[in-house]
Amino acid sequence: MIAEAFDYERADSLEAALAALARRPGAKVLAGGHSLLPLLKLRLAQVPLLVDIDGVGELGGVRVEDGDLVVGALARHRDVADSEAVRRGWTALAQAASHVGDPQVRSRGTVGGNLAHGDPASDLPTAVLLFDGVLTVASGAGLRQVSARDFWLGPFATALGEGEILTAVRMAPLGDRAASAYRKFPHPASGYAVVSVAAAVRLDGEGRVAEARVAVGGATYVPFRAAAAEAAMVGVRPDPPACREAVADLFAGQEPAGDMYASADYRAHIARLYAADALAAAGAAAAAG
Ligand SMILES: Cc1cc2nc3c(=O)[nH]c(=O)nc-3n(C[C@H](O)[C@H](O)[C@H](O)COP(=O)(O)OP(=O)(O)OC[C@H]3O[C@@H](n4cnc5c(N)ncnc54)[C@H](O)[C@@H]3O)c2cc1C
Repeated sequence: MIAEAFDYERADSLEAALAALARRPGAKVLAGGHSLLPLLKLRLAQVPLLVDIDGVGELGGVRVEDGDLVVGALARHRDVADSEAVRRGWTALAQAASHVGDPQVRSRGTVGGNLAHGDPASDLPTAVLLFDGVLTVASGAGLRQVSARDFWLGPFATALGEGEILTAVRMAPLGDRAASAYRKFPHPASGYAVVSVAAAVRLDGEGRVAEARVAVGGATYVPFRAAAAEAAMVGVRPDPPACREAVADLFAGQEPAGDMYASADYRAHIARLYAADALAAAGAAAAAG
């Protein structure tokens, strides 16, 4: 199908992009276009103006700043997946980025677009939530920070307001004797996550879990941190049986979602298997140093 008519403006700075959005109510940012253009072509969305931010150099890049990982909104999935620093210190994020679509999608699609789109089946929100990401949002009023826990509000709904642009996401390192892992159960046709799980483990000097993190995506309308499973891991050795036991209550306080692809029970079952596997993999990697 062909999209309804829209105006197009190419911005060469963040300031110019914000000004263009402010001039036209309902205007939207265009980044890699790999989620927005299909929606427009299917006429599931209409916009009066697309503000193309692809040329805004200040929004790109993957770098380590004061020990934290900072990923610019225009960084491509491939930049994240291929970064040696991300693979080493934020492994689950690199693995999540490497699971996005195919090489073409990973070369054009952006981290900011993936997070801002708010698709419950996206890969990156699960990993960003694992690392307690802090998202920087720009508007005419200046910059504000939003924690990953507050960013996704529902399917395709985020904390971004009209005229705001996500500029970057910042993630602190896990620390010593720590590691992370990502697991995805992809839909066989679309490749999107039916369920995704990111897990991290930090060990004490005796090889027991000092801190565990588990983030689950795809199984509910917004990704969540599985607090009961995280607590159940503390003090145990992260071998596969202990990890399986710890994730029994993975969905405490959550309602798994069912749809035409997978029932709620099936999603919950797969999520528990993948969470146990991701925790055991993170534990083994942390022990190996
Ligand atoms: C064939 C195919 C397979 C795919 N498979 C997967 C997959 O397996 N896993 C996965 O996670 N994703 C998948 N995707 C989606 C892909 O990751 C997209 O690139 C991503 O979701 C959106 O990024 P984009 O840069 O293309 O954003 P766009 O399409 O340009 O924009 C998406 C939305 O985000 C908004 N937006 C973009 N950037 C910003 C910003 N900086 N600030 C504020 N709002 C912004 C836009 O206004 C729009 O509403 C797939 C896409 C395709 C086409």
